[in-house]
Amino acid sequence: MAKAASVQSKRLSKQQLAANFADLHPPLSAHEALVESDRCYFCADAPCQQACPTSIDIPMFIREIQAGHPTSAAKTIFDQNILGGMCARVCPTETLCEQVCVREVAEGKPVKIGLLQRYATDVAMREKQPYSRAAATGKKVAVVGAGPAGLACAHRLALHGHAVTMFDARKKSGGLNEFGIAAYKAVDDFAQKEVDYVLGIGGIVVEHGKALGKGLKLAQLEKDFDAVFLGLGYQGVNALGLKHEGAKGVEDAVAYIAELRQAKDLSKLKVGRHVLVIGGGMTAIDIAVQSKLLGAESVTILYRRGRDAMKASPYEQELALSHGVAIQEWAAPKKLLIKGSKVVGLKVEETALKGKKLEGTDKSYELAADVIFKAIGQNYVDVTAGALALQDGRIKVNDEKRTSRSKVWAGGDCVAGNKALTVAAVDDGRRAAESINAYLKG
Ligand SMILES: Cc1cc2nc3c(=O)[nH]c(=O)nc-3n(C[C@H](O)[C@H](O)[C@H](O)COP(=O)(O)OP(=O)(O)OC[C@H]3O[C@@H](n4cnc5c(N)ncnc54)[C@H](O)[C@@H]3O)c2cc1C
Ligand code: SF4
Repeated sequence: MAKAASVQSKRLSKQQLAANFADLHPPLSAHEALVESDRCYFCADAPCQQACPTSIDIPMFIREIQAGHPTSAAKTIFDQNILGGMCARVCPTETLCEQVCVREVAEGKPVKIGLLQRYATDVAMREKQPYSRAAATGKKVAVVGAGPAGLACAHRLALHGHAVTMFDARKKSGGLNEFGIAAYKAVDDFAQKEVDYVLGIGGIVVEHGKALGKGLKLAQLEKDFDAVFLGLGYQGVNALGLKHEGAKGVEDAVAYIAELRQAKDLSKLKVGRHVLVIGGGMTAIDIAVQSKLLGAESVTILYRRGRDAMKASPYEQELALSHGVAIQEWAAPKKLLIKGSKVVGLKVEETALKGKKLEGTDKSYELAADVIFKAIGQNYVDVTAGALALQDGRIKVNDEKRTSRSKVWAGGDCVAGNKALTVAAVDDGRRAAESINAYLKG
């Protein structure tokens, strides 16, 4: 096994880092947007719209761009998805709208829906938002969690004239848009600009540093407010279940990404030389690519099944490979190799399918590493002291996002069945707000 080198900052110059973390998909110019919008067939029963979790009227907004009205196009988007700007940057369009676009099916070249959405929303967000509040209803709603689900819910409630108080455990709003999304997908502090844009409707107060379960109690919120929405996201990360998981160098990928996203100077971040990433989803790809961009010499993703079973789409896998990340399939972590208090490598067991069952084989090998990232999923941690019914470890909700308590709604990553995408959280937030509005007016 090769000797692992130390974890250090300043692997790359500030200039190199700035270039590496530039916008992954630069925006379309006005001319490019016009040309691209011309490729749309404006299909009836458009498959792209059906594939969009927020059901944006895609042919309509593309037609509005084509007609030279990008702000009208943005309004069409925001009517369904007030975080349409972020979704244009982070949605895995290759598995949603663009995958089913008839031009993808016919020619393998979809209309660039995501980039067109970004063009329209960027133009519109240079101005004040197009919504104004309905007359005040006198009703008060608590929204706990200022991530995509909470923000979408709060905006729609404010639009209906309700007074919203948002509580968030962190010092900043935005949830994973601010602390999780890969840095090269949301450059120029876009997450905070979007929060400001959403809150621009008025009627929403945000209280940071207020956590449900620590100080804030659900029963008290139910007494103080007419309705409560929970958009808590995930708080826990899954463990490897190996000895020495607390050793130096064994890191939680989500926590490291949060540090990266908040770093004012990326050159000060400590980066491993030989990095291993355990997992097969979006977080695994993001931490692997960003480790490479920060200057790690070798980065390998270890996944226990074949690439076709990875949660990360083929597009994301290609993104990792094109950045020099290796993907090792059929590989499960067996033992953390430790020297002193630090990790120096990993014993990996080869896996195989026996029928449909994944099993370890008797073949194993060792890989040197000075950093091992755990990216094997997150989980919901109940902060309501068992007050809400759960399903599959997350909050149980009905189609309207109502929980088992009559005044409490929930949405986003913390609810059962949610797809754990930004756009799915926004959809939950908007739906819950419409249900809360009907309840408050009923
Ligand atoms: C590393 C990473 C990369 C990702 N990349 C993508 C991507 O490229 N595209 C995509 O579509 N999706 C991506 N996702 C998923 C996406 O970010 C989430 O599905 C989405 O943010 C969920 O929104 P949410 O509002 O439910 O939760 P969150 O975004 O997690 O927001 C929850 C909010 O609740 C607050 N909170 C938590 N507990 C409490 C409490 N007890 N009291 C008060 N406040 C609390 C948190 O501080 C946070 O602000 C990624 C996820 C991760 C982890
Ligand atoms: S499926 Fe493609 S061509 Fe048809 S409306 Fe949607 S974007 Fe346009």
